Amino acid sequence: SRYSLPAEPKDNDTNSNLCSGPVILLSHGDPTGFKPFWRSVGDKCKVTIDSCDFMSYLTDVGTVCWFLEKELEEAIRQLHSTVGNAVTDDRHIVVGTGSTQLYHAALYALTSPGGPEPVNVVSAVPYYSSYPEETNFLCSALYKWAGDAYTFDKEGPYIELVTMPNNPDGQVRGPVVNRNDGKLIHDLAYYWPQYTPITAQADYDIMLFTFSKSMGHAGSRIGWAVVKDKNVAIKMTKYIELNSIGVSRESQHRAAKILGAVSDSSQCIGANFFQYGKSLMAERWTKFREVINRSRLFSLPKYMEEYCQFSGEDSEPHPAFAWLKCNNDIEDLEIFLRRYKIMGRGGSLFGSDPKHVRVSMLGDEETFNLFLERVSSIQDTISNSN
Ligand code: PMP
Repeated sequence: SRYSLPAEPKDNDTNSNLCSGPVILLSHGDPTGFKPFWRSVGDKCKVTIDSCDFMSYLTDVGTVCWFLEKELEEAIRQLHSTVGNAVTDDRHIVVGTGSTQLYHAALYALTSPGGPEPVNVVSAVPYYSSYPEETNFLCSALYKWAGDAYTFDKEGPYIELVTMPNNPDGQVRGPVVNRNDGKLIHDLAYYWPQYTPITAQADYDIMLFTFSKSMGHAGSRIGWAVVKDKNVAIKMTKYIELNSIGVSRESQHRAAKILGAVSDSSQCIGANFFQYGKSLMAERWTKFREVINRSRLFSLPKYMEEYCQFSGEDSEPHPAFAWLKCNNDIEDLEIFLRRYKIMGRGGSLFGSDPKHVRVSMLGDEETFNLFLERVSSIQDTISNSN
């Protein structure tokens, strides 16, 4: 499974003795790299929860998303307005247990029982590797995974997932099918200033965001959807009611505290957080490119500089993942790297080719530095043997 550790190379694997160091796990986007920042904040974002707090299922039965904490809703709206990355005026906010739950809620909301066939769900290659599995695991009669949006040619209604900027390759893309019988879900997990320049306020029908990638707090399992259509928001809420009767109120409370602090300019946490995140990512990308450019064995995507409305300067994207490609005759880069105890996620899972591997750029500093050393030594070994 994607959250179990990949099998470690065995001693009898071909060439597994090429490396004696520890296994470097980069197959998941666990955002622990932001931890030093949050540690530096001290107790400014501490929350205290009494034993009698949050006992009710209900938060506010009069609202569309009746389990959404008001303080979280306010913090979310405020944060989008401070960052300028999404329109939230006159939009509904639906909270979920991670944006993963909201993805399921959106599929449920955009389809109805009784159709002749499940609605096709597509996304342009390379797509986020979890979409196919998440879409199909319950064998729903409502929807089914139909693969690459570029080659999609079936008639009838469809749902297209647009991940912007994209996981795994960091590119900014729009929808590609563009028919009028389609519905769109925009996954904006990485549309934050530490990863990519904020070029416009996103304004789409369903936009998914997550506390995991925005702030680095993946363990709280909080995501939110910004939804234009009230009926869609009601149906998404219904899904969450049926699936988990709401979303942890403790988690929402903590997320509200942290998101609130980031948008509150008087606390200086916000500008500092995004600055910290951006310089961390920029520094890692610079170091990684330096290593990669020392040989012709691997290459990385190139990105254009754009003006970031949040920071007020031109900047390049620094994606959460590196979409690494090998340029020689290595057929399967995931297997190749595994022999050197580097665990990435192979290109085929993203609908792409096995010459690509996605590696996380979000892990802790020690792991990242070890990774750079290991890649460097692979490059030396390969160029010496040629
Ligand atoms: N969408 C994308 C594109 C992601 O990369 C991820 C996390 N890897 C998610 C959604 C899921 O996020 P969450 O932790 O909020 O469930």
